[in-house]
Amino acid sequence: MAIASTNPATGEIVERFEELTAGQLEDRLARAAAESYRLTSVEDRAGWLRAAADHLENEADDVAELIVTEMGKTLRAARQEVAKCVAGLRFYAEHGPGFLRDVDGDGESVGARHTYVTYQPIGTVLAVMPWNLPLWQAMRFAAPALMAGNVGLLKHASNVPQCALYMERLFREAGFPEDVFQTLLIPSGKVAQVLRDPRVAAATLTGSEPAGRSVASIAGEEIKKVVLELGGSDPFIVMPSTDLDRATDVAVVARTLNNGQSCINGKRFFVHEDIADAFIEKFVAKMGALVVGDPMDQDTDIGPLATESGRQDVEDYVEDAVGKGATVLVGGERPDRPGWYYPPTVLSGTTPEMRMYHEEVFGPVAQVFVVSSLEEALREANGHPYGLGSNLWSEDEAERALFVRDVQSGMAFINGHTTSYPEIPFGGAKRSGYGRELSDLGMREFMNAKTVWVG
Ligand code: NDP
Repeated sequence: MAIASTNPATGEIVERFEELTAGQLEDRLARAAAESYRLTSVEDRAGWLRAAADHLENEADDVAELIVTEMGKTLRAARQEVAKCVAGLRFYAEHGPGFLRDVDGDGESVGARHTYVTYQPIGTVLAVMPWNLPLWQAMRFAAPALMAGNVGLLKHASNVPQCALYMERLFREAGFPEDVFQTLLIPSGKVAQVLRDPRVAAATLTGSEPAGRSVASIAGEEIKKVVLELGGSDPFIVMPSTDLDRATDVAVVARTLNNGQSCINGKRFFVHEDIADAFIEKFVAKMGALVVGDPMDQDTDIGPLATESGRQDVEDYVEDAVGKGATVLVGGERPDRPGWYYPPTVLSGTTPEMRMYHEEVFGPVAQVFVVSSLEEALREANGHPYGLGSNLWSEDEAERALFVRDVQSGMAFINGHTTSYPEIPFGGAKRSGYGRELSDLGMREFMNAKTVWVG
């Protein structure tokens, strides 16, 4: 894919970028300042993170517009994304120093005067990031990594180069030392070379399963640590004790957040038969009432999909399902207008013969299933290869306990929808990947927990 910003609302190319030459890439790898940066103080790093947060907050409106122009989410959603990045930077500035404290052990039991674990940075980390939350996905790697004393190399998705370059500029202007965070404008074909470079210690990737498989296999050969955050097809289970007005409001948000292009969107809705008709009626009506339009417009709920091929993929999934007998309850047809729009869509009657049943639809398309028990919902939910987030709506304690015990996912949200917060760990199970981002766990993924024994 060429490195370029293309406005998804119009299909027009806004700006093209040259990829780095071999010499420029080598220069950037050579400059990555891991050796000097690891010696900076925790207080200095926290101060630079705070400065980055202030800087970003001051530029929030411009950055939000840039996000909209490059990937088509609504301006409202882009502003929320920027605010989340500001909060993430402040979270690590405030709590990072605590996460980095040495942890004392029981020296006596191992014949020592004292033992402790000290958390040290591992060096230069390559972040391969997707376009769907172009600032937040990269920030949730960068803020803990920089706080930890690691150095970042960002290979962002080829359709969001301006957001990628903004990240580099933000950290430089916030006062971080030169070359602790660099953006590499390279195609995905160059990732292997960078990851195999001995100056690179580890990698994190958020994106598709094929990209994850490729990066994980190279990291495996090189014995380098890797964190993978891949696809999801989160179940959203609704039981009879639920307030259906609230549950359907949140179900709509869960499926359409980010124009329906998020790994943690609720994608499969399992509804108990006692309330199925009422749930489906409300859900379909609310999905159908969403305003699809210009993402810059304040009244728009759903903007265009980010790429032409992404919309084609969504259409292909729906066509495949309908061709094999699924029913469209609302949506299902692209509007006749420029830009890569696709309407909120609800399907019933999807079956294992259909591709969307086992895969991930990256667009605002919901599948609804009627189940007769929570056990059946869990069996169906767990039948999918992915296990990123999961959602249960229930006021019943026993149902909640069963859900938490048995759902095969990295995150279990009850009476809400899956979201990432700096304060709590984020990550998946099964083919959604491994490792955790955010909180103290995310920060420690890329640290050497060094055991110290003093006799
Ligand atoms: P990709 O996985 O192709 O892109 C994500 C990032 O990985 C980009 O920076 C991309 O670079 C890079 N990349 C792609 N292939 C490789 C590779 N073989 N080795 C190293 N890096 C690679 O996602 P797409 O944008 O193509 O979206 C396809 C599907 O992926 C979506 O439909 C969705 O299912 C899933 N996805 C999941 C996301 C999530 O949040 N979990 C986010 C985005 C996508 P480049 O752009 O240069 O190709």
